[in-house]
Amino acid sequence: MQTFDYVILGAGLGGLSAAACLTRQGYRVAVLEQHYLPGGCCHTFQYGDYSFCADVHYIYQCGPGQTVARFLNYIGKSVPFNSLDSDCVDRIITPEVDFRIPLGWENLRDRLLATFADEAKAINLYCDEIARLHQQMVALGEDLRWYDLKWADWIKLPKYWHLYSRRNWTLQDLYQHCGLSPKLQALLAGQSGDYALPPKDIALLTHASLVSDYAEGSYYPQHHFKHLVDTMVDAIIEGGGLVQFSTPVEHIEVRHRQVQFVIAGGIFYQAQKAYISDLDPKLTVSLMTDDGNSELDNGPDHRPDQGLDHRPDQVPGSGAKK
Ligand SMILES: Cc1cc2nc3c(=O)[nH]c(=O)nc-3n(C[C@H](O)[C@H](O)[C@H](O)COP(=O)(O)OP(=O)(O)OC[C@H]3O[C@@H](n4cnc5c(N)ncnc54)[C@H](O)[C@@H]3O)c2cc1C
Repeated sequence: MQTFDYVILGAGLGGLSAAACLTRQGYRVAVLEQHYLPGGCCHTFQYGDYSFCADVHYIYQCGPGQTVARFLNYIGKSVPFNSLDSDCVDRIITPEVDFRIPLGWENLRDRLLATFADEAKAINLYCDEIARLHQQMVALGEDLRWYDLKWADWIKLPKYWHLYSRRNWTLQDLYQHCGLSPKLQALLAGQSGDYALPPKDIALLTHASLVSDYAEGSYYPQHHFKHLVDTMVDAIIEGGGLVQFSTPVEHIEVRHRQVQFVIAGGIFYQAQKAYISDLDPKLTVSLMTDDGNSELDNGPDHRPDQGLDHRPDQVPGSGAKK
C-alpha cells in the first residue's frame, strides 16, 4: 500500500492543476494516469518532426492577474503566452458568409452590425443579453462565496434575478428570443463548436461565459501546450509528488461512505486526506462498484467489517475492473 496526503485520479489539466496547488501547500500527492503522457484532452503527441496538441486550440484568462497567470504564479512557475490575432481569434465560414471574430465583445457587435445591417435589432439583443449575463455571473462570483454561504447572502440575490431567470435557457432559446436569422444563427453557432453540441443542447450560461472570456483574451502558450502541461508535472515532482503514467485506476474501494483506497496498475494507493477524481464522473462511480462489498452495491445501510485488512491478497473485490 502506498500512502499519500492526496491521491488524484487522472492527469488531465484538472487533475494536474489540483495536484500542483496541493503540492504548493506542502502536501504529498500521487497522480495516477492511464496514458503514457500527461495532459488528458490537452496532451501533445509527436508526428514526425511536429508536435500536435490533441485538441485545445486556445485558452483564456492568461493575461496579467488573470486566473491562469495567478495559478502559475501560485505554484512558482512561469509560462509565457501569445495572444491570438486580435482581428481574428475565430474564422467562421458558412456557405453564405466568411466572418472573422475579433477580440472584444463590442468589436464583435460592431462587425456584426456592419456586415448584417438588416439584422441590427436581433444582433443588439444577442450582444446585450450575453454581456448582461456575463456581467451578472462575474458579479455573483465576487458577491457570494459558494463555499462559505451566509444567511445574509439571501438578500443579495434579487439583483441576480435576470441571471436566475435564464438558468434553464439553451443557446437556441436565445436565438429564438432575439429573432436571429438562420444565416446568423449558423455563424454564431460556429463559435460554439467547442462543445460539439447543437445550440439546442448548449446551456446559455455556459455559452455566455465562454464567448465573453474568449472575447476578453484568447491565448496560446508561446512554447506549445506541452510546455504548460510539463510545467505542471515538474511542479508536482519537484515538490515531492508522484505522477504515475501507464497506471489505469481499476478499482475504488468504498466503505462507510468513504473511499478506503484505490487500485491502479495493480498497486494499492491510499490517501490520508482525500481522493480527487479528474475522471469522467460516470466512470468514477462505475469504478466504485465491486463484487458485492461496496456500499454502492449494497445500499447505505450495509456495514461491512470494520477490521478490513488492506493487504492486496486479503481485500475483497481486489480483482481489478477495467
Ligand atoms: C476537440 C476538443 C477541442 C477542445 N478545444 C478547447 C480549446 O480550444 N480551449 C479550451 O479551453 N478547451 C478546449 N477543449 C476542452 C478541454 O480540452 C477540456 O475541457 C480539458 O482538457 C479537460 O480537462 P480535464 O482534466 O477535466 O479532463 P481530461 O483531459 O479528460 O483528463 C482526464 C484524465 O483522466 C485519465 N483517465 C481516464 N480514465 C482513467 C483511469 N481509469 N485511470 C487513470 N486515468 C484515467 C485520462 O487519460 C485523462 O488524462 C476541447 C476539447 C475537445 C474534446
